[in-house]
Amino acid sequence: MIAGHFGFAAAVKSRVPGAPTWSLMLASVWMDVLFLPLLFAGVETMQPFGGGDGKAYGTAVIHADWTHSLVGALLISAVFGLVCAVPWGRKIGAVLGAVVFSHWVLDLPMHHHDMPVLPGNAAHLPLLGFGLWSVPAAAAALELVLVLGGAWLYWRRANATSLAAGASTRSARVASIAIVISGIVTLGLNLVGV
Ligand SMILES: [Zn+2]
Repeated sequence: MIAGHFGFAAAVKSRVPGAPTWSLMLASVWMDVLFLPLLFAGVETMQPFGGGDGKAYGTAVIHADWTHSLVGALLISAVFGLVCAVPWGRKIGAVLGAVVFSHWVLDLPMHHHDMPVLPGNAAHLPLLGFGLWSVPAAAAALELVLVLGGAWLYWRRANATSLAAGASTRSARVASIAIVISGIVTLGLNLVGV
C-alpha cells in the first residue's frame, strides 16, 4: 500500500494545515522508506505468496521484522516525531509521529499474517496481518476509499480557507484533483506490479 497512505496524509493535512505537506507524505510511508535499504541489505526479505512471483499487487509475504513490527513501528514513530518537533514544535512533531504509526495500522488489514509484535520477531509471538491482499479488489478498494476520502477532506478544508480569505477556490480544486490523480496512478502502478 502506497496510495492509501498518501490519502491518509491528505486527510491529516486537512486537520493540521501547519504541517508541511511533504513531511506528512514522507511520514506516511517512512516505515517503507526504512524497509527498502534493509531489503537490499537482506536484513528484511520478501517471499512470493499464493503461487505467483511475488511482484504483483499484494502477492508477497513481507518479512519486515524490524520496520513493521508493532514495537519497532512505535519506536520509529517516536524518533520521527521527536526529530520533527525540533523545527516545527511539539504539536506538529506529535502529529507526524502519529502519521508514521498510522502506516502500521493501515498495513495491518493488508499484510499476509507477517507483521511481528517485537523487533526482529523476538520471542516468536503470533504474527499479525489480516491478509486483505488475498482479495486484491477489496484491498485496492480500501486504498481508493482512503485516496478519495483524503482528497475530499483536503478539498473541503482548502476550499473553506480560500473562501474565508476571499480568494479563488481554484487552487484548492486543482490540488484535490492532483491528489486523486496521483493516488489513482500510484495505485494503478502498484496493481500492475511496478
Ligand atoms: Zn509498509
